[in-house]
Amino acid sequence: MQPNKDINQFDIPLARRTRLNNSNSIFLKNLLIISPFLFLFLSIFSLRLIRNIEIGSLPIPNSQAQRNLDHRILGHLPYAEIPEEKLVLIEPNIKVHIDMRDSLLKMRDQAKKDGIYLVFLSGYRSINMQNEIFFSLKSIRNQEAAERARVSAPPGYSEHSTGFAIDIGDATQRETDFETEFENTDAFKWLIKNAAKFHFKLSFNKYNKFIDYEPWHWRYEGSIEALKVFETSNR
Ligand SMILES: [Zn+2]
Repeated sequence: MQPNKDINQFDIPLARRTRLNNSNSIFLKNLLIISPFLFLFLSIFSLRLIRNIEIGSLPIPNSQAQRNLDHRILGHLPYAEIPEEKLVLIEPNIKVHIDMRDSLLKMRDQAKKDGIYLVFLSGYRSINMQNEIFFSLKSIRNQEAAERARVSAPPGYSEHSTGFAIDIGDATQRETDFETEFENTDAFKWLIKNAAKFHFKLSFNKYNKFIDYEPWHWRYEGSIEALKVFETSNR
């Protein structure tokens, strides 16, 4: 029995040796075959990672960084132009978004009942018209772009192109139209007290760090479409 035991200890059966050798070489062969693909995969993965870091699509750690990604130009957010079929005339020269017409007219009626006479100065403005205002009118006044942007939005960045913005004056004090002094009129005081009932909100208050205070400029937030349009601005 002893000799047999010795033989068993040192002599690994031929079949098992062959299998071991075979599996090693198959593994190496497979590794050689897949290595270019593995290299390619790792390269693409690394490139994507670098690109993601560059374009900032990785999670942003703070809200300041989030704000930097909201595509403002000179403090103004971008707004798309409303399609023509959603606009309605409320005055011979003023169009607004159909969603806000009823509410706006109701607000004017209610003010009248309270002895306050609101006058609508400007509603929808096309991107073309905004282009004219921003690049032509303001350059005549010798203002630089950043200066102009404090009082007027660059084309494509005006709330007026959404049809949801309205500039309001006091019919009894027209000299305050588009002036900060409008805030001293009865119309403004009435708006501050009552506009929210009709879903209107002052867009640019005294604390906006980019845009000058515009007591005459109000926007409508009384429909889902309007809320979507102003979602970023309300963040
Ligand atoms: Zn305005």
